[in-house]
Amino acid sequence: MSRYLIDKYRALEAYTPGEQPRDMRYVKLNTNESPYPPAPGVVEAATKEAARAQLYSDPMCADLRDALAERYGVKRANVFVSNGSDDILNFAFMAFAGAGVPAYFPDISYGFYKVYAALHGIEARPVPLKQDFSIDPVDYKNLDGFIAIANPNAPTGMALTRDQVEGIVASNPGHVVLIDEAYVDFGAQSCLPLVEKYDNLLVVQTFSKSRGLAGARLGYAIAQEGVISDLERIKYSTNPYSVNRMTQAAGVASLKRDDYNADNCRRIVKTREHAVAQLNALGFEVLPSQANFVFARKLGVDGGWLYRELKAKGVLVRHFDSPRIADFLRITIGAEEEMAVLMLKLKEILSGQEG
Ligand code: PMP
Repeated sequence: MSRYLIDKYRALEAYTPGEQPRDMRYVKLNTNESPYPPAPGVVEAATKEAARAQLYSDPMCADLRDALAERYGVKRANVFVSNGSDDILNFAFMAFAGAGVPAYFPDISYGFYKVYAALHGIEARPVPLKQDFSIDPVDYKNLDGFIAIANPNAPTGMALTRDQVEGIVASNPGHVVLIDEAYVDFGAQSCLPLVEKYDNLLVVQTFSKSRGLAGARLGYAIAQEGVISDLERIKYSTNPYSVNRMTQAAGVASLKRDDYNADNCRRIVKTREHAVAQLNALGFEVLPSQANFVFARKLGVDGGWLYRELKAKGVLVRHFDSPRIADFLRITIGAEEEMAVLMLKLKEILSGQEG
């Protein structure tokens, strides 16, 4: 820290991204990326645009927003895009919380929510998950602030139904309810059909997980026009070109082959079900996941220790050293072969421990 940093940022605890080590080749199951490459046509479309990189990208992102609007049966004015859904979450915290409006979100959830609250001087009101790590929708009824809920939640993978979310949205007409659907394509119910009914619902999705474009940085939000224009106001006050030309073209090309993306999601769900059965057989408790990862623990085994043992054997998973979840590992669902390596290494480690 330099002596120039102003006071309000001195205590800011930044988000810690999952590690991307370069010291050796790992089976990488730690950042919920897709094991499958982008859809056919994506690389060609992005490459074509790279040849025009001397020109700014379209700040309106017209083609991409039109493609998303068509895909989801809404209008361009209902679609917002930016540099990853992280960017959109940040804008939403800026636009809809602060200045006396607190932000409510689950106490165990995507770690960025509390960082955005701290960054913008927003009062954070974390809401404890239930004993079984699920979200109790009753806790979010009739609140006096902005609400952000990841559905499915991360790192648990557990989801609310659309009806449960609707109850929350309907009971908070004075505030925006942001539903972060980063993982929705792996089995949960999307709340997009509710957008036309509620002007306070903001649904955020991403190309990072189900479309295999994490490195392209492309997130989108769908809401009624007013809320979208609020996000545009923030984007145009920071960086109107937040989505570069290569990524805009990649997004359009990817949507043309959403059949390929949907196939990959089905493969990942199948691999997840297989992985859950194998983990159960090894004595792990696995929370019911509707995401492309599972959250698992084994009674009597220290989560931090297991994370380190796996890393030493070339398998990276995610461990959170936080209360209530320190014994869990969050394991991204990779390709079948990668999961086979994970299971093999787990067996080796656990049999060593017993012996
Ligand atoms: N929301 C949740 C719940 C996430 O886990 C992630 C991925 N780390 C994001 C949003 C951000 O995804 P991206 O910025 O890659 O779209």
